[in-house]
Amino acid sequence: MATFVVLMGGPGAGKGTQAKRLERELGIPQIATGDLFRENLQNNTELGQTARKYMDAGELVPDEVTIGMVRQRLSGEGRSQGAIFDGFPRTCPQAEALEALLAEWGEKLAVVLYINVRRDVLLQRLAGRWTCPICGRVYHVLFNPPKEAGVCDVDGGKLFQRADDTEETQRRRIDVYFEQTAPVLDYYREQGMLVEIDGEQSIEEVTESLVAAIRDAT
Ligand code: AMP
Repeated sequence: MATFVVLMGGPGAGKGTQAKRLERELGIPQIATGDLFRENLQNNTELGQTARKYMDAGELVPDEVTIGMVRQRLSGEGRSQGAIFDGFPRTCPQAEALEALLAEWGEKLAVVLYINVRRDVLLQRLAGRWTCPICGRVYHVLFNPPKEAGVCDVDGGKLFQRADDTEETQRRRIDVYFEQTAPVLDYYREQGMLVEIDGEQSIEEVTESLVAAIRDAT
C-alpha cells in the first residue's frame, strides 16, 4: 500500500519547505493544492480563472472546485507512490472527501502532521518569503536565505514573491486558516490521527520530527 500523509499548519508554518524535504527523504511525492492552483493560473485554464479571485483575496477556493482538482491529480498513475498533501484538506468537507476518495481506491491516510507555529511568528515568516519558479523551493530572507540573493541554490531559478504574499492578504490568509482550518485539526484529533510537531524548531529538527512520526505510523 502507498503512504498518504497530510501536512497541516498555518500559512508560513513551513509545510511547503518540509514537504519538499520529505519528498526527497522518503520518496513520497508532494501534492500541494496551492501549487496546482498557481499552475492553473499560469496556464490560464478555466479552473485557474475560477480560483484567481479567491486566491487574490486570501480566501479559500470553493470545496467542489478544490476536491475535483485533487481527484483528477490522484486519478490513474497519480497515486501509485502515495502523497504528502500540503495545504489540503483545509475544510471539514475536504477532509471527508479525501477519506472517501482514498477509500474508493482501497487506501487510507497513515497520519496527519500538524506543524504548530504561533500566529505572530507566521506573519514574520510570510513577510520575507521568496519562491523558486522552477522547483518550488521556498526561501526566507532572514531564516533560510539562498546562497546568492534572489537565486535558487539548486537550479539557479530567479526567485519571486508570491502575488498573494502582500501584507493584507497574508493577514487574511492567517485569519482564514484559524477560522476555517482549525476545525479540521479537531476532526483529525478526534479520530486519533493527529500528531503535533513543534514548528518553531530549526528546519532540520522539524524534518526529523516529521520523518519519525511518519515512520512510526507506517
Ligand atoms: P497555499 O499555497 O497553500 O498558501 O495556497 C494559496 C491559495 O490557494 C490559498 O490562499 C487559497 O486561495 C487556495 N487554496 C490552496 N489550497 C486550498 C484548499 N485546500 N482549499 C481551498 N483553497 C485552497
